[in-house]
Amino acid sequence: MLTPVPDADGAPFWRYAAEGELRVQACADCGEPRFPPRPCCPHCRSFAGEWRPTSGRGRIWSYVVPHPPLLPDYAAQAPYNVILVELAETPRIRLVGNLVTEPGAPLDSISPDRVRIGARVQAVFTATGLPQWILERP
Ligand code: ZN
Repeated sequence: MLTPVPDADGAPFWRYAAEGELRVQACADCGEPRFPPRPCCPHCRSFAGEWRPTSGRGRIWSYVVPHPPLLPDYAAQAPYNVILVELAETPRIRLVGNLVTEPGAPLDSISPDRVRIGARVQAVFTATGLPQWILERP
């Protein structure tokens, strides 16, 4: 099971995730969202940042179904999906995760043939604060 390992820039992301909230970093001067978290805005070079709440909603922008050889911890869960989610409020930001049936469910809880590009998804969180995704309409 994956456990978040926050660095200084990403620590707020994980702190909000542990509370069940998906937030993205944004520039406090020009307002541009940015991901992954970093100290400087790539648009205006400001170091002022804020953490903007999101609805946690998005669409599957792309996905893969990894095949062996896999790391030992993942081999037992294959086949499973890895999805790239485009956030509803900030379409330029895409997060990598797994589509599952419910919060904390195993990676193989949903069949890979149910994953579709464009499907609407909602962020959920494991007990350790790791974001996962569920279908809005299962
Ligand atoms: Zn900026």
